[in-house]
Amino acid sequence: MKILIIGGGMGGTILANNLARRLSAELKSGKAKITMLTASEKHMYQPGLLYLAFGRMAPDELYKDQATLLEPGITLVVDPVEEFLLDENRVKTKGGKTFDYDVLAIATGSRPVPELIPGLAENSVTFYTEETAVKMFRALQAFQGGRVVIAVGVPHKCPMAPLEITFMLHDYFKDRGIRDKVQLHYTYPIGRVHSLENVAKWAAPEFERLGITYETLFNMKEVDGNAKVVKSEEGTEAPYDLLVSIPAHRGMEVIEKNKLGAGGWIPTNRQQLNMEGRKNVFVLGDTTNIPISKAGSTAHFEAEALGENIAAMLKLGSPVRDYDGKVFCFIEAGKDRATYAMFDYLNPPDPKPPTKAVHWFKMAYNKLYWISARGLL
Ligand SMILES: Cc1cc2nc3c(=O)[nH]c(=O)nc-3n(C[C@H](O)[C@H](O)[C@H](O)COP(=O)(O)OP(=O)(O)OC[C@H]3O[C@@H](n4cnc5c(N)ncnc54)[C@H](O)[C@@H]3O)c2cc1C
Repeated sequence: MKILIIGGGMGGTILANNLARRLSAELKSGKAKITMLTASEKHMYQPGLLYLAFGRMAPDELYKDQATLLEPGITLVVDPVEEFLLDENRVKTKGGKTFDYDVLAIATGSRPVPELIPGLAENSVTFYTEETAVKMFRALQAFQGGRVVIAVGVPHKCPMAPLEITFMLHDYFKDRGIRDKVQLHYTYPIGRVHSLENVAKWAAPEFERLGITYETLFNMKEVDGNAKVVKSEEGTEAPYDLLVSIPAHRGMEVIEKNKLGAGGWIPTNRQQLNMEGRKNVFVLGDTTNIPISKAGSTAHFEAEALGENIAAMLKLGSPVRDYDGKVFCFIEAGKDRATYAMFDYLNPPDPKPPTKAVHWFKMAYNKLYWISARGLL
């Protein structure tokens, strides 16, 4: 069985390692072959970007060589896919190579698209790439006081990022001794402060306790950089001195170009994770169209279910389990306190009051991630 995995981020890496362990005998005998095609020889720990924006992690701490994260027996090829020829069970790469497969898994992730909102990219700071997170750090350092507006586009990866960045801004300015000179104003597109109802119920009083004002039903329409105002579809305006944005995301362009899914999101069966209408094409991580959090933990739990199922397809002739929608997200609630949200298709999250212990566990996880990416945690 030729297994081809597209994307060497969180989902692709955990899936490849999971399969390599389950199929070690088959890899040795030649009955199975696992190939990963990816776009970069480096693997980025994306949650670290949040800390980079505050100067609490350095850029080089975010990366490891992809090759060092993979189990022996996996063939790694750094050459992005340009064409998906699903009817022929083949893909073509930018480098002009063709790879055929019996089973394909797509985990190409997602990307911020600030260009959808006029004026947003030029007039806001953000932290979704290394370059923008470093710029945000410099802008924060230069900021001496005024109104900071947090503006959120949907969907975006890391469901907790809007809350976390707001709590971290509060702490950052407090640590600098200028919190009293800064007004923090949080905006959110729907009628509460977070998409997950219980998380919103927990976060709103936390904002009030910390003197953070908030405004809901605020869907960004445009940013006027001269007037320093962000305008909403609802007709309201939020004036700012510093605009911190979480831009809406889309799947990768290659997905749209190949007509695999509108917006770069691939229609995916929510239990079996196969691409709708295809039995041998699976999708995991941010690039599915399943309406759950675009998070590393989602990719992780999906990869575990898929690893078991793809191995079972080889050994038993059929998949054996469903993905249950499990997601686990830490929520940084201030520099030394954090909580978490754990949920699945049937059970909503129920965040507990933040504690220092959970914060330190998250800090430890920032290091343990590399073990997690190898599928060992
Ligand atoms: C600031 C920030 C904070 C976050 N915090 C958290 C957190 O606290 N908890 C959490 O669970 N998640 C968090 N996330 C989200 C998490 O990082 C992503 O949801 C996760 O990485 C998605 O995994 P993925 O495998 O779908 O995509 P990615 O990990 O993004 O991997 C995509 C891979 O596809 C490759 N690729 C792209 N195009 C092609 C192509 N054409 N051909 C081949 N390969 C290609 C890329 O090189 C990359 O290796 C955060 C993200 C950010 C940006």
